[in-house]
Amino acid sequence: MREEWKAAAYADLRVRFPAIWDAAFAEKGEHTFTLFGPSCYVLDADGSRVVIDPCLRFPWMTDQIAARIRNDFARVDAVVLTHAHEDHFDTTLLSMLRNCPVPIVVPEFFTPEQLASTSLPDTRFIRVRAGERIRLGRFIFTAYRSAHFRPSGSGIDEMGYLIETSRQRMLFPCDVRDYNPAKLPPVGEVDTLFLHVWLGTANALNLPCEPFLSDTVRFVLATGARQVVLAHLMELARTLPELWTYTHAGLIADALIAARPDINILLPRLGVRLTL
Ligand SMILES: [Zn+2]
Repeated sequence: MREEWKAAAYADLRVRFPAIWDAAFAEKGEHTFTLFGPSCYVLDADGSRVVIDPCLRFPWMTDQIAARIRNDFARVDAVVLTHAHEDHFDTTLLSMLRNCPVPIVVPEFFTPEQLASTSLPDTRFIRVRAGERIRLGRFIFTAYRSAHFRPSGSGIDEMGYLIETSRQRMLFPCDVRDYNPAKLPPVGEVDTLFLHVWLGTANALNLPCEPFLSDTVRFVLATGARQVVLAHLMELARTLPELWTYTHAGLIADALIAARPDINILLPRLGVRLTL
């Protein structure tokens, strides 16, 4: 990645963000998902819609879509949160849901202070424990503790989810910092894995980012998923050594295809709806 490419991506985002948001919140699809941020998902299936980790990374984004948030979230069955990092937990956006009755699923370890920072009443939150299975519209989410802690111990509590629909079992570990396959939950067969690309702290320019590349691939293969979504790319608030891009997704894709030629790889771009 080069600074000028990142600058071009930022300039493009400033122009196109409202259209990206529109595409994500357009009519419901059938087993589709659309990203409106690097790790912000609108997930549609069986006539239901769930939004995972809605986050507007720059204040100008909030200004651009503030007028439509209420209407767009009125057609959402639930918002689901994973962890409290600033690129996943956006208290400003959540506070804008005050007059929209969408329930918000929060991991049990979110503190009262964190929830209060959204200025939403406590009644809006559904607390979910690891191992718990909850129905959200036609989706079934089963929560588990995901591995956002590094092997060294640094990190943050995080909830991952097994997401079931009428025709998909999807594993959503969110941000993984410990690719030890033993940290995967015993969920059985998985159709689709959502992988948030991360190949080591401040390691993005040290291509090919080993040993994290091989560790990541081992982790993906251990899930047995027949399809992998490579996301959390182009988080433009980050510096280049922390910025995961299509280069890194390409490395993972090459290694996965070498190990398992029949694997299907989805590489979403913001505002482009993909079928699962
Ligand atoms: Zn995180």
